[in-house]
Amino acid sequence: MYKKLEKCPLCSSGHFNNYIICRDHSISKESFAIVECEVCKFKFTNPRPETNKIIKYYKSDSYVPITNRANTLINLIYQLVRKFTLKSKIRLINELSTKGNILDVGCGTGHFLQVCAKDGWKVQGVEQSMVARNYAQELLGITIYEQLSDIESLNQKYEIISLWHVLEHMEDLDQTMVGLKNRLSKNGTIVTAVPNCHSFDAKYYKSFWAGFDVPRHFYHFTQNTMEELVKRHQMKIRQIIPMKWDAYYISWLSENYRRSENQKLPDILKYLKFPIMGWRSNRWASKNNNDYSSLVYIIK
Ligand SMILES: [Zn+2]
Repeated sequence: MYKKLEKCPLCSSGHFNNYIICRDHSISKESFAIVECEVCKFKFTNPRPETNKIIKYYKSDSYVPITNRANTLINLIYQLVRKFTLKSKIRLINELSTKGNILDVGCGTGHFLQVCAKDGWKVQGVEQSMVARNYAQELLGITIYEQLSDIESLNQKYEIISLWHVLEHMEDLDQTMVGLKNRLSKNGTIVTAVPNCHSFDAKYYKSFWAGFDVPRHFYHFTQNTMEELVKRHQMKIRQIIPMKWDAYYISWLSENYRRSENQKLPDILKYLKFPIMGWRSNRWASKNNNDYSSLVYIIK
C-alpha cells in the first residue's frame, strides 16, 4: 500500500529526519510524514502511496472547467486571476524563445496550450488524468499523451517544455529530468513552477500549508534543492521568477484547511485573513532571498 524510500532521491544518502507530519486535508484525511535529508536538506513525502494506489488521492471533479463553477465570488476572482496568469505565462514563453514547439507536461484541461496555439506555437501535451486529457483533446483537437514516455516515439524536440506545478507530483525525479532533457531542442528551455516550502506562508501555516498537499506532492523544493537537482543533470537555473498570486491562493486554501480542523474559528476570519497573509508572504519574500510562495525556475 505504501512505499518507503530508503535513500534520498537527490543525494542518495540514507539519513533523514522527520520534518513535519501533514494531513491530506482535501481528500483522504490520512496523515503523511515529510522527511528531510540530513546531507542535502531535500524534503520528500516518506512513505508515500504505491504507484497503483495514488490515483485514489486525486479527485477528478477538480478538473471540471472552472467556468462551470463561477457561482461564488472566490471562483469569480479565481477566473480573473487565471486569465491574468495565462497572459503572463505566454509573455514569459515568448521572452525565452522564438516561437516553435512547446510541450506542456501535466497540461490539465489544456487552457495554457490553447493560449500558446493561438499565439502561434506548435503545441503538444501530456496529462495523466483521463478526464482532463479528454477535455484537453476536445479543446485543442490534438492527441494528448498519458505519460512523458509515450511521446518518445514522436521523435520531436521542443524549444520549451513547461511544467506548471507538476514536477512535485512526478514519481521518479531523475527519470523525469532525463526524459525532459532528451526532448529539449539544442537551445531549449525547461520552465517549471513548484511551491517553495521556505516561503513565509509555508512557515506560518506549517502542517496546514496547502503547498505541502500530501500525498500528491512527493517532493517539497526550496531554491537550494532545485539547484541540486538541476546540477545533477548537468543543467543550470538561469532565472527564478516569483508567482505572486500563488501566495493568495495558497493562503486561501490553508485558511480553509485550518478551519476544517477547528470549527470554532469564525468563517469570516478566513475571508479577512487570506488577502493579508498573501500580501505579507510576498512582502517578506521581497526582503528574504526571494522566497516567494511559488517559484518558476528557468532551466537550460
Ligand atoms: Zn539528500
